Amino acid sequence: MELTAIRREGATVATAADFALAPAGRISLPRAPQLPRFGLPLSGTALARTAAQIYDTDLVVDLGDAIGSGRWWRGFGTLGLLIGTALALGSHTPSLVAPAPPPLSPSKLEEARFDRISPLAFGSVTGRQVPANAMVRRLAETPERPRVELSANIGSGGLEGALRRAGVGRDDLEVISGLLRGISSLSGGKPGTGLNIVLGRRESKAVPRPLEFLSYRASFENKVEIKRGADGQLAVKNIPIRIDNTPLRVTGEVGGSLQRAARAAGLPANIVAEYMRQLGYAMDIQRDIGKRDKFEIIVSHRRAETGETEMGQLLYAGLMNGRSNVSLMRWGNSGEFFWQTGEGVRKGLIRTPVQGARQSSGFGMRFHPLLGYSRMHQGVDFAARAGTPILASAGGRVVLAGWGGGYGNVVVLDHGKGMRTRYAHMQSIGVRNGQQVSQGQQIGRVGSTGLSTGPHLHYEVWMNGKPVDPRSVKLLGGSQLGGADLQKFRGEMARLKKLPAAGSAG
Ligand SMILES: [Zn+2]
Repeated sequence: MELTAIRREGATVATAADFALAPAGRISLPRAPQLPRFGLPLSGTALARTAAQIYDTDLVVDLGDAIGSGRWWRGFGTLGLLIGTALALGSHTPSLVAPAPPPLSPSKLEEARFDRISPLAFGSVTGRQVPANAMVRRLAETPERPRVELSANIGSGGLEGALRRAGVGRDDLEVISGLLRGISSLSGGKPGTGLNIVLGRRESKAVPRPLEFLSYRASFENKVEIKRGADGQLAVKNIPIRIDNTPLRVTGEVGGSLQRAARAAGLPANIVAEYMRQLGYAMDIQRDIGKRDKFEIIVSHRRAETGETEMGQLLYAGLMNGRSNVSLMRWGNSGEFFWQTGEGVRKGLIRTPVQGARQSSGFGMRFHPLLGYSRMHQGVDFAARAGTPILASAGGRVVLAGWGGGYGNVVVLDHGKGMRTRYAHMQSIGVRNGQQVSQGQQIGRVGSTGLSTGPHLHYEVWMNGKPVDPRSVKLLGGSQLGGADLQKFRGEMARLKKLPAAGSAG
């Protein structure tokens, strides 16, 4: 639209800029300037003037502006005329007539009652009940499905129990038992294993349905499928499942608690316990582990292509603290762990023979609080809560288990080669005289019996009749790998340590 300003008599003129800036209601729409655009012939000046006046007449008057003026009254009259016209026309609008169904007769209403859904809310059935007529015949027995597909789970009764419950007959069970020979057994099967069973058509209800198909996971590595062929005979198919045997390597930072950090990295409790036990042979768990230390745990792990995983045993136990790094790997059939040097880790004494204890007093000259004078402290003390288990620091024979005067309840173990250990002030003793104990076995509980100021373990190590500092004791003649075996051991350790790590801190 053209909005150029062209001045004409009585007309308000505006430009596009005025339109944007001026307040609303003050500006009339500009009009087209020339009559010829509307096709009116300019045959006479009077006619032309009248036409121009009509054209210039402002029909849309703002009734809020210049109230009482001639222009206002004209606008008011126009509005009244329009309202009157609308009322005059509107009063003659004819009403619409729509057809409505006639009300139902009582018999029709009764019939329609069956089609309602409202009684459903009250548990009622709806729909028309058709009484039996002469065409209807009663069946001798209800027809059966030609095939039954079931899924079941192996329970305490093994595979056989589950199949029997599903309705597999004795004859079929016998055949299956024969087929499974060498693959799996009918009595076995891991509880919870899912079975897919298909039973076929039978001649009468008196006989069990024949087994058409059975599939289940016989073990982690394979799936078994038994299928009835076209010849009517069952045949077995053993489907191996691909397994990835790559061990799982988990590393992370110790933080507040090594056990918690290892558990948080996704390792099961028994693996963490084994890790802590092996670590305990190699170092003083209570004193030599810091928050910033890095643990490294490698576990045998199997992952089936179907997605299941299975965690096996601890393969490698490592702890990097920058001072006395521990690097142990399982080797051989005995399950023993070895240092990188090929030394068996269990050849030394357990450094802390009390679970979760701290050493409260060392070896050497000490002032004795109860006796009141300084004397040689022939062992080390571990403070721990009363009742905490005490472990044999090495395998050996019990040579004393009973009351030992100032020692209170005491146990002495003979480890051979002139070495003995003594455990004093016990609350209770868990071994008998002459009994063989293995390293790490519980022999009693921490107490405060005898000359003792509070619950603690007084622990002594004797070599050839003389007390020695337990921390100085190194050799008990443990296992040692050598030659080609040691080469293989080191190769395997290097391979394990190269595995990509999963876990909290790379
Ligand atoms: Zn002591």
